[in-house]
Amino acid sequence: MDSLAWFATTPEGEQLGKLAVQMVKVEWVPVPIWLAPFEPFQWLITWLITMVSTGYPGAVWLVIPYLLIALLIGLTILRRLRTIWWHKATVAAIAALNTLLTVAGGFIAVNWVNAVVPFGVRWVVAENAPFALANFHTHTTQSNGFLTPEQAVLWHLQRGYKVVAITDSNTVKGGKIAQRFVERTKLPVTVLVGEEFRGKTHLVLLNIHSDISPKEFDVPAAIKETKRQGGIAIAAHPWTSKHGIEELVEWGVDGFEIVNGSTLGDEKLQNLCEERKLTALGNLDLRSDPVPETATVLPKWANTTQKVAQALKEGKCAVIYLSDRISTGEFNPLKSWISELKDLWRFRGTANFVGIVFWIFVGRLALLRNRKKLSSQSSFPSLKSFILTCLLTLALFALSASFLVWSMARDLKQNWFPSLPTAIAIWVIVCLINWLLWWRLMKCELYGRQN
Ligand SMILES: [Zn+2]
Repeated sequence: MDSLAWFATTPEGEQLGKLAVQMVKVEWVPVPIWLAPFEPFQWLITWLITMVSTGYPGAVWLVIPYLLIALLIGLTILRRLRTIWWHKATVAAIAALNTLLTVAGGFIAVNWVNAVVPFGVRWVVAENAPFALANFHTHTTQSNGFLTPEQAVLWHLQRGYKVVAITDSNTVKGGKIAQRFVERTKLPVTVLVGEEFRGKTHLVLLNIHSDISPKEFDVPAAIKETKRQGGIAIAAHPWTSKHGIEELVEWGVDGFEIVNGSTLGDEKLQNLCEERKLTALGNLDLRSDPVPETATVLPKWANTTQKVAQALKEGKCAVIYLSDRISTGEFNPLKSWISELKDLWRFRGTANFVGIVFWIFVGRLALLRNRKKLSSQSSFPSLKSFILTCLLTLALFALSASFLVWSMARDLKQNWFPSLPTAIAIWVIVCLINWLLWWRLMKCELYGRQN
């Protein structure tokens, strides 16, 4: 059983919170079995990389473990080979490069799969419940999210949310696309246009109509501009804020994220929100997580963007969250590891078991085949074909890496840019080709004979 907790700052909010904790059911959807071959890699990538790099998928920190792992592989290969120095240096360098590509692309692929395949947690809300669930912080492919704005809307519907704000970094573009999509499809969901203002302090700005960029506005000016556009300003993950929470209140923020992802604000923040009756939100800061840990509870009448704004301003809202999965303050690696272990048991177990058996089987088959092949000696490739193979690997690496970066980096997205599925498909093919090419070279260095 999952224990649900709630937080609210007004009597009306309290009522909503208490009711939601009783009436909302948490449903765990297992990983589909067809994902089994992929699952062991997802663990390798999540555990090895995300956990090593402070636990936050910040691109800057991810680079360090990527490089270390690549270097380690390269050096291991270098030590094993006993041929001409520049041959073995090249073969080792290609292995390092291939590793880099595999892990970096793997990270993107894992996040994408986690976003598009509907496993993990789903909130189940009874049809007659007098409240609806909301999430006011979502990134899409318009910034560094993994779902398109349209997919993000569907994701929320599938997970039990009826109100969603699309808040891409420093742009309202994603929100506008999502809102048009809902107008067209008449889906039963209310979409708010917003952005995450990423200045010195991050703000979730809701119900605005044009971009508020940190290049033009500092934090107080951004709050003012939000009000001018008729919107609401909420301090996002205030524990990372460069400004004090009192200072932000002075500048006119309407409230704070009390939960962001799996982090809960500390007592000081909770007290401030309660004393000043500020709006408190439980936001996902969604990029690709299959387990939404929190939601904001709104009265059911709040079913248009204006009514949602009214409910928020009047504090007629509550935050609910999965208390086992949420911690206060700093990221705790141990707790994250344990939480990952619990997930293995709860919704990834079967797929993982099948996946591991599958790879043991494939690995054995490959080993047997290779042993037979190796006994019929291979010979060194000519200098020309050696260099050609290396150049081809490099070219494919450059192509695939630039597609991955291009599809992720919003600032580069002008006119046409590859969709994530396209970039991932190219990455899969290139990884396969590159490792095969590498293995050809490696085999010659290990067992080859001079022509
Ligand atoms: Zn942020």
